Amino acid sequence: MQGVMPKVRGLDFPPLKAGEVWLVGAGPGDPGLLTLLACHALEQAEVVVHDALIDARIFDLIPAAVERVDVGKRAGRESPRQDSITARLIALARQGKKVVRLKGGDPFVFGRGPEEAVALEQAGIVVRVVPGISAGLGGLAWAGLPLTTREGVAVALVTGHGPDGEAPTDFDWRALAQSASVLVIYMGLRQRAEIARQLMKAGRPADEPVSLVGRAATPEQVVVVTTLGQLGGLTEAELPPTPALMVIGRRPMGSTWAPV
Ligand code: SAH
Repeated sequence: MQGVMPKVRGLDFPPLKAGEVWLVGAGPGDPGLLTLLACHALEQAEVVVHDALIDARIFDLIPAAVERVDVGKRAGRESPRQDSITARLIALARQGKKVVRLKGGDPFVFGRGPEEAVALEQAGIVVRVVPGISAGLGGLAWAGLPLTTREGVAVALVTGHGPDGEAPTDFDWRALAQSASVLVIYMGLRQRAEIARQLMKAGRPADEPVSLVGRAATPEQVVVVTTLGQLGGLTEAELPPTPALMVIGRRPMGSTWAPV
């Protein structure tokens, strides 16, 4: 990545040392949404352990000599278990490698980053977290969806399923429906009918706008606008490509970085 990192005068980032693991957020897609610190980390890495959700254009920034390990978890497909991912990170660090653990969006937003950080710390390994732009924040802004307006009082970031993939029936949807004007639901498409049912049961109106944003901040970005009443009846063909977010209570406005 030599030469890609903008030389920013006066900034003095710490080096990624041998045996350290940096948990780096890659943002939602577009390389323009990487932070300077993320670029700095990628420039120094000897090995990059990454998820399935990383945009191909970000890989293009990593030199070919850097080892890449794909530990991607894809919904519904066979994928490495979390403990084997952590074991791999610990082993690489103990070999004295400079390790970047690259995660989509922000490493501490619904990405199991905290578990990895704790396991590494418990193994005596130095971990640093490089925050990233979460899909449900900057990714939505990229797609033209403002999360807060003067009318809204609260936004909730919600996961569409429990820790083991189970349906979100045990969540307190009533409390969420009543406290947050906008709900940003990660990993929720498959549960759309149940989520819509729970929210309407809790009093959210059937004509409330819902935006489904697929592949935010990538050239394949698609925004589907519907209503809470129609959400449950959408067919697979009507859904945007994944990964996708469901935004209850918002529709896109203004100009956006639409794909060209
Ligand atoms: N740490 C990530 C989230 C990981 S959970 C972050 O902060 O963004 C994975 C979920 O994130 C996906 O199921 C999807 O709901 C959402 N997601 C990640 N990247 C996305 C993108 N480019 N567009 C839309 N949704 C995305």
